[in-house]
Amino acid sequence: MTGRGRARRTPDDEPLGSVTRPVVDDSAVVAGCHRCASSTLTRVRLALPDGRPAVFASCGACEAAAWYAVGGDGTPLGPDGSRRL
Ligand SMILES: [Zn+2]
Repeated sequence: MTGRGRARRTPDDEPLGSVTRPVVDDSAVVAGCHRCASSTLTRVRLALPDGRPAVFASCGACEAAAWYAVGGDGTPLGPDGSRRL
């Protein structure tokens, strides 16, 4: 599976009434793999169970995967949004 050709979509669960944010390049959220620092990541914008926007990043080099809260400190999170590493 590769990320090539994947359409970028706006999450449907973003509240329309919120202040419009500038378009965010998800590479700013996840600059590189937390394990091997590769930048060959497949990034998918999703929301955590508690509603926070997040990016799920899967590494093409070592296959590590983690979640990162958008606007967070770049800490890899588990799929439930908790700190894992
Ligand atoms: Zn990696």
